[in-house]
Amino acid sequence: MPRLLTTLLIALCVTTACTTSSLGRKQLKLFPEGQMAQMGVQAFTEMQKQTPASKSSRENRYVNCVADSVTAVVGGEWEVTLFEDDEQINAFALPGGKIGVYTGLLKAATNQHQLATVIGHEIAHVLEGHGNERVSQGFVAQTGFQVATVLAGDPTPAKQQLLGLLGLGTQVGILLPFGRTQESESDLIGLDIMAHAGFDPREAPKLWVNMQTKAQESGQQAPPEFLSTHPSGETRIRMLNNRMPSAMNIYQQAQASGKRPNCR
Ligand SMILES: [Zn+2]
Repeated sequence: MPRLLTTLLIALCVTTACTTSSLGRKQLKLFPEGQMAQMGVQAFTEMQKQTPASKSSRENRYVNCVADSVTAVVGGEWEVTLFEDDEQINAFALPGGKIGVYTGLLKAATNQHQLATVIGHEIAHVLEGHGNERVSQGFVAQTGFQVATVLAGDPTPAKQQLLGLLGLGTQVGILLPFGRTQESESDLIGLDIMAHAGFDPREAPKLWVNMQTKAQESGQQAPPEFLSTHPSGETRIRMLNNRMPSAMNIYQQAQASGKRPNCR
């Protein structure tokens, strides 16, 4: 990282927007939650215009059942749409509580636990503010110190104008792939979330293997979000297995407290 940028990031951390992720990682998040949510909802509406929703009531019921069980443990309002696209082995979640699942994912996620793995992972991106981080990093890299100083200060017309401009740039940024660190973080936090919801965390490593196989089989040009920037499959599985004992504890407690989802 260039020295100026490092200095800038430290300056920003001191003045405004540094937080810490659930796993203790320092984060730079420049944008208010409300603004991120607004962008997420806008992007989701765009998606809904471009891609038809599945008309299968059985599949919609199934996906909603899993998503509802998972989101129940994290709170907040969430909406899930099942998009009709058998080629896309993918899913996403956006700030503002929007979840998109593609019908193609159901070929790789072969049971409710595996679907919960993906939804847990996606929700973790949102809960940990990964989109905000991405957009903030891009913003800092593009615009440099001067603009950042304006942003960090009191509300001024210049700041208002900047925030307005951001609406455009960030709509693109919001769907950029996440970095490796963020993917790993979502894997681990997602594992805890699914276990809290009473889904079997032992299915998570199986899901990621399925994903990889299916993506290769279908020769996807742009690999799914999960695979594009992620550490190798082996690293991913090893990290998940390291966390498995504590996830199993969470899972057993959830089951004991009556959380036994039965979606099909
Ligand atoms: Zn991800």
